[in-house]
Amino acid sequence: MADRVCPQCGAPIDPNATECKFCGEKLAVQQAAAPQVQQVQPQIVIQQVTPQQTNVSGINPAWPLKSKIAAGILGIFLGGLGIHKFYLGQTGMGILYLVFFWTGIPEIVGFIEGIVYLCSNDENFQLKNHVRLG
Ligand SMILES: [Zn+2]
Repeated sequence: MADRVCPQCGAPIDPNATECKFCGEKLAVQQAAAPQVQQVQPQIVIQQVTPQQTNVSGINPAWPLKSKIAAGILGIFLGGLGIHKFYLGQTGMGILYLVFFWTGIPEIVGFIEGIVYLCSNDENFQLKNHVRLG
């Protein structure tokens, strides 16, 4: 345990010494590892209150009004950019489409989704995408 040396002269010093016995340099008392103060982050839980006024068909009146035709057309023509996802409020998915635009895969998926939107019945479209049709 001779790894403590004097900062002034470099001489090895006793771990408990308060000054160097060679040059007399005052030494900072080696501190025992300070107890780690655990920063307890207060957990703020934000309760998302979603209106539960679901009607018989399960369509939530809080869902935004969208057009199935618009979503379908956007998917078919701009699906590779995820525009139909952004339009439907699915921003995370939209970004995913954007990120993988270069692969060409989102274009195919978006195209198919566009067709599916147009062919799906209104209720399924609304329930699947959490939107309401006007
Ligand atoms: Zn010294």
